[in-house]
This record gives sequence, C-alpha cells and structure tokens, in this order.
Amino acid sequence: MTEIHNPATGDVVGEVAATDLAATDAAIGLAAAAFEAWRAVAPGDRARLLRRFAAVVDAHLDELADLEVCNSGHTIGNARWEAGNVRDVLDYYAGAPERLTGRQIPVPGGVDVTFHEPLGVVGVIVPWNFPMPIAGWGFAPALAAGNTVVLKPAELTPLTALRLAELGREAGLPDGVFTVLPGRGDVVGERFVTSEAVRKVCFTGSTEVGARIMAGCAAQVKRVTLELGGKSANIVFADADLAAAAASAPSAVFDNAGQDCCARSRILVQRSAYDRFLELLEPAVRGFRVADPADEAAEMGPLISAAQRDRVASYVADARVAYTGTCPDGPGFWYAPTVLLADSTADRHWREEIFGPVVSVLPFDDEAEAVALANDTPYGLSGSIWTRDVGRALRLARAVDSGNLSVNSHSSVRYWTPFGGMKRSGLGRELGPDALHAFTDVKNVFISTEE
Ligand code: NAD
Repeated sequence: MTEIHNPATGDVVGEVAATDLAATDAAIGLAAAAFEAWRAVAPGDRARLLRRFAAVVDAHLDELADLEVCNSGHTIGNARWEAGNVRDVLDYYAGAPERLTGRQIPVPGGVDVTFHEPLGVVGVIVPWNFPMPIAGWGFAPALAAGNTVVLKPAELTPLTALRLAELGREAGLPDGVFTVLPGRGDVVGERFVTSEAVRKVCFTGSTEVGARIMAGCAAQVKRVTLELGGKSANIVFADADLAAAAASAPSAVFDNAGQDCCARSRILVQRSAYDRFLELLEPAVRGFRVADPADEAAEMGPLISAAQRDRVASYVADARVAYTGTCPDGPGFWYAPTVLLADSTADRHWREEIFGPVVSVLPFDDEAEAVALANDTPYGLSGSIWTRDVGRALRLARAVDSGNLSVNSHSSVRYWTPFGGMKRSGLGRELGPDALHAFTDVKNVFISTEE
C-alpha cells in the first residue's frame, strides 16, 4: 500500500494498493482482449459513449476538483478548470469517431483508399503535476480512435485518475477499454514499454525518464509520444505594455506552485526597461496569494512533497534573491514565490528546470540577443513575447525554438489546438485534430478494377 498525503497539511488522506507486475500483465491482457470489440463499435455509438463519459464527468466536477485539492494541493480554482478540461477533451474527441475519414487517391487501374486504423492497447503514463488534464489528453483521443487504454497515474497523485476510471465504467465503457493502474514507474510504467501487447506509449514527465522510455520503445519499434520538461522564456521588450507584462509574469510561473512544464521560469527583459520592470514586478510577487488551496482566493498552494520543496530550496541557496512573496508556515510543503537575478546564463537556476515557484531574470540588449538567450536551453516547450511591434512579435515567434508561444499573453493550452515540445521538451503533439491521428496507423488499400 502507498500512503497518499495532502500536500497542504502533510496528513495521510488515503492508501492505494500498488499494482504489481502480474496484475499489470492481466490488465494489459484484458485491454488487448477488449480491443477487437471496441474498434468494431459503430462510430456513432463510440461517440455517444464518450459523450456520456463527458456528461458523467460533468456531473462530478466538484467532487473531482475537491479530490485534486486534497491529493495534489492544487488551488480550488485550478482544480475546477482541470476537471472541466477532462470533460471538454472527452466532448471534443467524441466528435471524432464519425470524422476519422481516410482519402481516395487517384491511381491507374483501380481505386486507392486509406484507412486510419487504431493501434491496439495504448499505455498512458502521467506525472503528478497535472493528474487530470494530462490523463485526459491521452485517454480521450486514444479511445475515440478505437484503441483501448491502460493508464498509470503518478505514485503521489492517483486519486482522480482512479475516480475517472470509475466514472468511465458508470458511463458504460465496456470492461478493459479504460483501466487505471496505480503503481510504480519502474514496474507498471516500464511494463507498458516492454509488453509486446502495448502498441503505443504516451508519456508525460521528466526528460530523463522520457529518453529512457523512448529507448525501450525503440527495441520494439513501438510508437511513443513524449511531453517532457521545459525552461521557457518570457521575453519582455522595452516597447511592451510593461505594467501588463509585470502583472501577469507571476501567474505565468507561480501557477500550480511552478510545477508546470509551461512555466515561464526565465524572464528576459530589454536592458532599457530592466529596472522599471523589476519595480513593477515586485508588488505583484509580494501580493501573490499563497494560501490553503481550498480557499477560493488562493492563487498558489503548496508544493507536492517535502522532497520537491527541498529540491527547490537548493536552487535558491546560493543565488542572488531580488525579492520573495510570502507563504504559510508548515505543516505542509510550502515555498514562497521567489525572484532570482541571474548573473550569467551559466547559473544553475537559469539553466535547469526547477519545477517550483522560482523565476530568474536576466537583461538583454537587442532582438538578436533575446533570440539567442531564449534558445540557449536544451528545452523548447513554451514561451511568451511581450512587444507592441507586430513585426518583431512575428519574427520572434518564428525564431524561438518552442512548440507553443504566446504574444502579449501567457496562455498555452487550449484543447482544440496542438500542444507539445521541440528539442528535449518532447516528441509529437497532443490535443487538437493532429493528436487523433497519432493514435492511428494509416493503411493504404489498392482495389484493382481490371477485368
Ligand atoms: P517523472 O518522469 O519522474 O514521472 C512521470 C511518470 O513516469 C510517473 O507516472 C512515473 O511513475 C513514471 N515513471 C517513472 N519511471 C519510469 C520508468 N522507468 N518507466 C516508465 N514510467 C516511469 O516526472 P514527474 O516528476 O512525475 O513530473 C515532472 C516532470 O514532468 C517535469 O519535468 C515536467 O516538466 C514534466 N511535465 C511535462 C509536461 C508536458 O506536457 N511537456 C506536462 C507536465 C509535466
């Protein structure tokens, strides 16, 4: 049994049995057995089942949100958005089964058509930072395309995924179509990689584990989607609306206590606006409301664990602190929002993903330097560009190596637009129409019309 803790208090809020290897194999076997029947469900019926799943999730939004506050320490506002996002993603992909059409390609002597075939069993591996949305981004399109799914939540945050599996059954999903297996990454997750019966692994988590999963999948030429780490740049030019950029910079990095792969954790400010920007940022950071995540007014809750808090503190220990916000004292795994001044791009806090409420600030002189600094990272997940010059915004948006960029905004995720990383931030795209095809194989069939 694994104890589950409330990060805001440290209290044990439940115990979950870890799935062992034999039970993992049994669940994969059940998913493989369920596949032929699931892929054969008429598109309209599969769509109806997914819509019913979305409706059941919708009827349990408050319960799911409360569970996430308690298990993950997410603010109640965020947790409601996350539960609603699962509903929305299910609704969106419920529109897919009847629209998953192939093509007819002109050829001499016959007819050539393509089919989008489901892959089989898909293994979805989820991290602890966004347990609900990331689960949904995997299982909803996979199911819509006719695959069956086994899903492993993170060891620390299994409760909402387990509840979602119950809600799927309540909606009428047949046995074996969607199974949640709480347990260890090196047991359950690794089995998804090594089992011949799992035809694709959809992984979100650290770059180190992702690289290992990719290597494992290579042995079987197994498909893999990787959503990995980030160290995204928030680039502020002197011509920008500095007040708006400074007011929104804290939530762009401290949201979810900085445990966000899209966190804009490197702020680059044009030198002529550097001092003014830091002045404007200070009250926004000091006023950032870190409180009991169940409090409606909380903007940030605790970190996920004591280990994560200690890891974050290790980055701040030798750094130059500009200012910090405030946070409750223990119990619980609290850390105050912190702004660091980078001395150079070699600073550890500037280079590495901290995954906590810490942001580093560095000045730049011109556009070329901004691009070079933004791209001087192994990651490429998201980022923001603040300027009133449209041409510059577009030049930067093309030049920065990131899968998701926002101009005069920090918004990164919409379930109907693609999401994913460049470089070591990942491989493949989730969400939007393209994600659906990533859960299918294209089959080409030629039918001769010769007499
Ligand atoms: P992690 O890599 O330690 O774990 C992620 C998942 O992988 C967990 O479920 C874990 O049990 C499992 N796992 C661990 N070892 C495994 C193995 N050998 N084989 C198979 N599965 C294994 O990451 P984490 O600490 O849970 O999450 C934080 C990381 O996730 C950060 O780096 C963050 O940037 C990244 N992340 C990326 C995105 C994105 O969309 N790009 C989104 C959220 C989080």
